[in-house]
Amino acid sequence: MVADMNENSIEIKTVQDAGNSDNNKQFPTWKCVTDYFSYITPTARPLSANVSVIESGKYLWVYDVGSHENIPEMLSEVSKQKSKKIKVILSHFHPDHIANLQYIKWESLYQGKNTYKYTHIGEIVESEINVDEPDIKLRIFPMPSSHAKGSLAFMVNDKYCLLGDALYPTHKGNKTVYNTGFLKEQIDILKNIAAPYVLISHREPFVQKKQAVITWLENVYSMREKNEPWIELKGL
Ligand SMILES: [Zn+2]
Repeated sequence: MVADMNENSIEIKTVQDAGNSDNNKQFPTWKCVTDYFSYITPTARPLSANVSVIESGKYLWVYDVGSHENIPEMLSEVSKQKSKKIKVILSHFHPDHIANLQYIKWESLYQGKNTYKYTHIGEIVESEINVDEPDIKLRIFPMPSSHAKGSLAFMVNDKYCLLGDALYPTHKGNKTVYNTGFLKEQIDILKNIAAPYVLISHREPFVQKKQAVITWLENVYSMREKNEPWIELKGL
């Protein structure tokens, strides 16, 4: 889901409907982050999240599977081309991140407990997992989140930390809010991880400097009021 955070958006922009003057569907494409890391771009119509593909010696690690109908075939083609099976990690349960799961042939599936309520299949991750791959360092761990319970982060080579929508706020009635405690935990986790880059779904550019993201979250955190469990984003 795309949440509003205009006021605090550093250089991050929501992926807009740019380039389409009519109401036609958008089509996702491949983009490259580095030699072992590509992703399928997000779309707004239909709402479909970034699909990240990390290539190890043996597998394609896919973080989120999107909802756009073209994605299953894009993934299956690359799997065939590389002769590597797919392992899936779901960031959280929202349909724009998981709806394609049923159309993808995967060997393993990792998700938070709350996401499992929607998939009813695969493994539940409740504490950190270090994946044993000889050529690449992969870590899956729970990320507290105002936006979605049971979010999972995926860290690659201590360089890139994929977070899905975990850093976005949530809506309570007509208010856009952060859970004060979760926000503090997120800031502490981000400060402690080695990765200098974090990747947030639905945003351009996809790869963000961690320090800029921490500054954004700290600005929000500084708006908290004493003994208030929620921080409301006003003027949005
Ligand atoms: Zn979401």
